[in-house]
Amino acid sequence: MGLLDALFRSSEILGIAEETLEFALESSSETHPNEYMGFLRGTEASELGLERDGLVITDVLVVPGTETNSVSATVRTNMIPNDVKALGSIHSHPNGVVRPSDADLETFGRGSVHVIIGAPYRRSDWQAFDSKGQPTQLNVIDVELPDAEEFFDFTQADIDEDLQWE
Ligand SMILES: [Zn+2]
Repeated sequence: MGLLDALFRSSEILGIAEETLEFALESSSETHPNEYMGFLRGTEASELGLERDGLVITDVLVVPGTETNSVSATVRTNMIPNDVKALGSIHSHPNGVVRPSDADLETFGRGSVHVIIGAPYRRSDWQAFDSKGQPTQLNVIDVELPDAEEFFDFTQADIDEDLQWE
């Protein structure tokens, strides 16, 4: 098992918080015509007031140094924080095609859920895929997030703090 595989842990994913999905759709739209790319992180459902076991996707970590252009987003893997709750990835397709490219399929093995958002980034312009690139159901959950502003406001200092390689 490689270091990257160790970053992603399988655990039951109950869905994505509505606010997080809307944030990603907006960000994709703002990034257009370039590609938006980030990693999905989760919060224990119990911490969100849900009486269930499992994780809810509650934030998107946009990796500093990610180079984007209209056809691809290249992640500098040495910039990925060592975070056991990275559940998968999310990225946009400015060409509006909501299915994984060959390059996407090569990276989907890491993480259990991968969301692709397509232009024009409306509420229905997205689809979740599993690690094999097959379309999968991802529930949208209406939960109250602790402090949305702080939640999404990653700074370089936060990232450095998270970078604890073995
Ligand atoms: Zn893609």
